Amino acid sequence: MTRIAYVNGKYCDHDLAHVHIEDRGYQFADGVYEVFAVLNKKIVDYDDHLKRLYRSLNEIKVKSPICKDAFLFIIRNLIRKNNVTNGLIYLQVTRGVAERDFKFPKNTKPSLIITSKKTSMDDYFSKFKKGIKVKITDDLRWKRVDIKTLNLLPPVLAKQKAIENGCDEAWMLDSEGFITEGSSSNAWILIKNKLITTPASNSILKGITRLSLIKALKKKKINLVEKKFNINDIKNADEAFITSATQFVMPVVKVDNIKIGKGKIGNYANIFKDAYMEAIQLK
Ligand code: PMP
Repeated sequence: MTRIAYVNGKYCDHDLAHVHIEDRGYQFADGVYEVFAVLNKKIVDYDDHLKRLYRSLNEIKVKSPICKDAFLFIIRNLIRKNNVTNGLIYLQVTRGVAERDFKFPKNTKPSLIITSKKTSMDDYFSKFKKGIKVKITDDLRWKRVDIKTLNLLPPVLAKQKAIENGCDEAWMLDSEGFITEGSSSNAWILIKNKLITTPASNSILKGITRLSLIKALKKKKINLVEKKFNINDIKNADEAFITSATQFVMPVVKVDNIKIGKGKIGNYANIFKDAYMEAIQLK
């Protein structure tokens, strides 16, 4: 069956889908995006992701090209048309197509594309059992990474460095030596039953998975602290994790040369993953 994408009001063959060469997303990274997980045909944390999309649009002064209800309608259509049981939805809005000029164009309609892809929960669970390795890199991003913009070159380079060093994710360091977050995930460590994650600010993306996990853990009365942590803290960590819509809760077993929990996933990994899975499925 042909994979179907949504491009500016039309459903089309994914392989043939295209946007104009003067789309401002292409030329200036002048746009924002969201990634939604689909689990058992259900969109995970839909309301929070949509809320973040509208916040991102507002911060870069782009009007939504369609109304709120239309997003849900199109995403559901794509899930159905592409027969997605478990997978991901990628949604991107740019300022639209206009002759190349830095200032905002007048009367240009924002562009919207939405795509879907299938993922395997078996792959997730087998990766989870082993845990992932993380490479430390510098955080080279701009000062408003709380906005989910298309401006992704620094995380692309960070992730590539991780891959070239046999790792799966990069944790980025700010100028004071604190971990901000992963290249495409939020970062967590656990020291003596205390779970620590970087506080939300303009220096991290306020992950929706992070938010859901925090809510789920509060209900379970897990001791959680939102504070910055550095490499010394990582050396003292009993466990570590990343969270994102694509990875859910994923344990980390090595950060640079530091083995976490002797290089094996710990007891809390399952507790956190189960709490998160339970919370999103009850919603
Ligand atoms: N931080 C960054 C930099 C990211 O790119 C992502 C993934 N979009 C996250 C955190 C996790 O956010 P979410 O849980 O909403 O996927």
